[in-house]
Amino acid sequence: MKVMETSRRPLLAANWKMHKTAAEAEGFINRFRQNVADVKGMDVVICAPFTALHRLAALLGAGFLQLGAQNMHWDKDGPFTGEISAPMLKEAGVRYVLIGHSERRMHFAETVEMTARKLNAASHFGLQPVLCIGENEKQRQDGRTEAVLREQLLGALDGLAERDKGEAGLVIAYEPVWAIGTGTPARGEDAAIAASFIRSLLRQTLGEAAAKVRILYGGSVGPENITDFTGRPDIDGALVGGSSLKDEVFAELVKAVLSSGGRG
Ligand code: PEP
Repeated sequence: MKVMETSRRPLLAANWKMHKTAAEAEGFINRFRQNVADVKGMDVVICAPFTALHRLAALLGAGFLQLGAQNMHWDKDGPFTGEISAPMLKEAGVRYVLIGHSERRMHFAETVEMTARKLNAASHFGLQPVLCIGENEKQRQDGRTEAVLREQLLGALDGLAERDKGEAGLVIAYEPVWAIGTGTPARGEDAAIAASFIRSLLRQTLGEAAAKVRILYGGSVGPENITDFTGRPDIDGALVGGSSLKDEVFAELVKAVLSSGGRG
């Protein structure tokens, strides 16, 4: 298995959403590891429910699988019942955190301003933020995709402290809402156009550091289509929901990215 040397390391992230108890998560990892013994040249991240994080951190150790969370609050502590902070995630062994997933924007009224605060807090506390942005069906039909990406991306980056702007940790996931969990992915060429638009916005804000930011595609990715996305110059990997829940399917995705040299 070879992975082409690029300046941006391919990244495949699983978003388990509200699935898997800690015991089920452990079973997944044990079976997955029998299938994929080692991975070099790319990052594989499991964004698990909060209750599974401690158990997974102990299990993953220093192996190639890394741990992510699906959400966090922007304050380090305080009277926010039911919330979790960045230092708590760090202590649990978390390295990546999803910010602004469309399900949080849709069901939990997460605003662009909240994503800005979270992005700032994640960077401040040394977590790698995976900022999720994307248009919904109506916005796409109205020809507003670029306007939505601009608003969500620049609005969130607004929260980033100047000192964090040059850091390499930032990841952007382009996730068209209409493609999430529907079985209807974006076309590879459309995702590529969106990714290069995102890169151009990053250049305006971050300058040269934009070249270091990894951009993922997310939305109904499966073994049959993954390399159509990861094969595009500005797409550095994928954020995967449904197809990450079964260890053997997720293993197929990892192998597909590896055997295509990281890019299709
Ligand atoms: C997601 O929820 O981030 C996602 C990409 O889901 P799915 O792969 O199921 O479309």
